[in-house]
Amino acid sequence: MTLDQLSLDAPKIVTPPPGPRARRLLERQAQRESNARTYPRSLPLAVARAQGATIEDVDGNVYIDCLGGAGALNVGHGHPEVLEAVERQMRRAIHTLDLPSPVKDAFTEKILSILPAPLQRTVKIQFSGPTGSDAIEGAIKLVKTFTGRRTILAFQGAYHGVTGGALAVTGLRSPKEPVASLMPDVHFLPYAYCYRCPLKLQPASCEVACGHVIESVLADPYSGVTTPAGIIVEAIQGEGGSIPAPARALQRLSALAAAHHVPLIADEVQSGLGRTGRWFGFEHAGIVPDVIVMSKAIGGIGLPLAIIVYREELDTWLPGAHIGTFRGHLPAMAGGIAAIEIMQRDNLLAYATEIGAFLQAGFRQIQAQYDVVGDVRGLGLMIGVEIVEGAGSMAPSSTQSAVIQRECFRRGLIIETGGRFDCVMRFLPPLVLSRAHAQRVIDIFGEAVAVAAHGAEKTRAKVVEVHAA
Ligand code: PMP
Repeated sequence: MTLDQLSLDAPKIVTPPPGPRARRLLERQAQRESNARTYPRSLPLAVARAQGATIEDVDGNVYIDCLGGAGALNVGHGHPEVLEAVERQMRRAIHTLDLPSPVKDAFTEKILSILPAPLQRTVKIQFSGPTGSDAIEGAIKLVKTFTGRRTILAFQGAYHGVTGGALAVTGLRSPKEPVASLMPDVHFLPYAYCYRCPLKLQPASCEVACGHVIESVLADPYSGVTTPAGIIVEAIQGEGGSIPAPARALQRLSALAAAHHVPLIADEVQSGLGRTGRWFGFEHAGIVPDVIVMSKAIGGIGLPLAIIVYREELDTWLPGAHIGTFRGHLPAMAGGIAAIEIMQRDNLLAYATEIGAFLQAGFRQIQAQYDVVGDVRGLGLMIGVEIVEGAGSMAPSSTQSAVIQRECFRRGLIIETGGRFDCVMRFLPPLVLSRAHAQRVIDIFGEAVAVAAHGAEKTRAKVVEVHAA
């Protein structure tokens, strides 16, 4: 089966979205669902079916899906072989808490087999509740229990989830502001976001100065920060704006954590399982963390599953230290096994690298034409394009990023925005995105950027007129 056969024929816009059927469902949703809902506000879409890297809405429009279930759909929507494995397991057993079973054993074996070699036989695995947030909570408890310490170091720009502890270590302020009393003793370090260096330095000459800051926090007896229980990091920040930290910054961090006997937690919820062209994002830097948190794509086709994998010496927590009813969805494990086997058989990691480079090259051509495209970056199929005001200004422009998202959507391309002020267009397509679809992604994105750039020029011309008057 070719990649083109996996997906629907897209893009196909038969009724300008949202069409009448979608509008009706969106209205009903707005009446009944929580004000906290998000995606339908910027992507007014009602789903009829989804296949491969495509989604069909209820009005018959077909989109290329670069949101990819927020990075959970590495082998695409409804991959037929994964579906078959899931269905088979559904008929056997679905929910058996943390009791052992052949499928759980096989899933554990599969996960262990894709870990970096030094970890393969020296780790333990914890099945947590089925969300990334829950597994992050577990990882925090794990390192606190092991070290007997209370402080966690996290990074500016990080996203680790929405539950108390996970939100406490998240950089994004907006969901934190209204909620008092989050987990205390969290401190934030500068992340190596080189396009907007928090220390205002240049990568060519900075000598990883952000590493010096981390060093001073850990080593200076007057740093004000008690020796941490753990440091949590995304090797490639996702929601923070698809920002790959340079390898040397991660290497410095890893060395500092080891020197100070602080467990390093890699949050691979979004970057894990092949998304970046390696099984795990941290592998690009050649580091080996002490704790790895995984969710999203490990459930195969978007089934809920989350795990924590950690060095066995950390396994000092007691029975029941991190439990939850839905810790171990057996069909999700069957789906996860099938997905990993497909990725191995079809060389999807190498393909993600290749198609990611193809997309980035296309986006760079657009960048050369339009100065509203400030930065193009990413690894594999975790790509960010940062939108700025242009005309010499690097200021983030959420007006333009919103226009680009809307214009893409109208043309049949679904992309997410993220990062500071929602100015980063984030591409997280299934790794089975065909080359033909990738070309369409570039073409549509280029048209959308042109619309935004034209709007920005008109606005600037108006401002000049007003000043001249
Ligand atoms: N960590 C990272 C890196 C994530 O991207 C996310 C979700 N976007 C989470 C944790 C939280 O996962 P969940 O939404 O499943 O709770």
